[in-house]
Amino acid sequence: MRIFDPHIHMTSRTTDDYQAMYDAGVRALVEPSFWLGQPRTSPASFFDYFDALLGWEPFRASQYGIAHHCTLALNPKEANDPRCTPVLDELPRYLVKDNVVAVGEIGYDSMTPAEDTALAAQLQLAADHGLPALVHTPHRDKLTGLHRTIDVIHESDLPPDRVLLDHLNETTVEAATDSGCWRGFSIYPDTKMDEDRMVAVLRTYGTEKVLVNSAADWGKSDPLKTRAVGDAMLKAGFGEDDVDQVLWRNPVAFYGLSGRLRLDVDEPRQPTHEGNSILRGGA
Ligand SMILES: [Zn+2]
Repeated sequence: MRIFDPHIHMTSRTTDDYQAMYDAGVRALVEPSFWLGQPRTSPASFFDYFDALLGWEPFRASQYGIAHHCTLALNPKEANDPRCTPVLDELPRYLVKDNVVAVGEIGYDSMTPAEDTALAAQLQLAADHGLPALVHTPHRDKLTGLHRTIDVIHESDLPPDRVLLDHLNETTVEAATDSGCWRGFSIYPDTKMDEDRMVAVLRTYGTEKVLVNSAADWGKSDPLKTRAVGDAMLKAGFGEDDVDQVLWRNPVAFYGLSGRLRLDVDEPRQPTHEGNSILRGGA
């Protein structure tokens, strides 16, 4: 089973996770920039993080034979902090970089006016840079948040078929389907979506334009949930081709809209990145 995890925060995961993901079939992933748990207090803190997603983390992934790309943005939560919003002015110089395959994650957290402004501005940045957009849908007040998100997308210059709506569930999948956007589902260990509910959604809504991710981060999460969905699909009678479509071809098609996806991992065992080694006792 070949797997592309289209949404995972490897910065907060260990080398054991990389190894277990490789062993489970993960050969590619996309790491969206996000909130770090500890609020940032200046744009410089974002830029160091963006550089890590562009340099250090792909290097770390390559040690385990996994292709790493990222999406960059001012996340919805920190869009509310005026100390952070100048990031929007600097994003264009990051969005031209080779490893950036979308603008994201953007969207709503608490649905404030500041979030409105950041969402609209970043959909425009995606349109201007020929990139698709990864749009996070709120975990609270989900359906209202989704409708408002879809309205803003439809008012933007970015066509819905270049937008991935993520963190969907049974209450939001129908509206997401009607919107013409790609549909993303995050599978969690014991809350929100799980693999059996995901299989039921696939039965009802089909496998077209559906992406499944682990959204694993520093919270309770499991980087092998993509594999769990593949296994649950097979057990429920889906064919291997259906699994391949959901876990590989759909994410390749969506992020391929950037024209920047490179799925070959070069030199998986290079010892250093910009002179820094992750080998104990190395330079
Ligand atoms: Zn995320």
